[in-house]
Amino acid sequence: MADKTFCKSCLDTVMVSEEVIQELVREADEEISKIVTNEIYSARLTQCSSCEFLQYGTTCSYSGCIVRYRAKFKNKGCPHTGKPKWDRMMGE
Ligand code: SF4
Repeated sequence: MADKTFCKSCLDTVMVSEEVIQELVREADEEISKIVTNEIYSARLTQCSSCEFLQYGTTCSYSGCIVRYRAKFKNKGCPHTGKPKWDRMMGE
């Protein structure tokens, strides 16, 4: 019988390798005017790390986003509609 630990579609779309994440973060870092400071980035990831919606240590199950990528951007916020844990930075 097949191992049913993970949803088949998740393997392709949600779980990503460390190398892919690092490449995404590198690309984000090139958008210097669009990204937050390292302090804000760390604070956002701290919130994600203790969030019940973080899956596989990488992915927000609420939105499907890779949190280490999403948290880089000023214009992105935590997607939780009821109680977002970090805000986007308006007007910056
Ligand atoms: S983005 Fe928001 S909902 Fe998603 S894992 Fe981070 S804190 Fe949780």
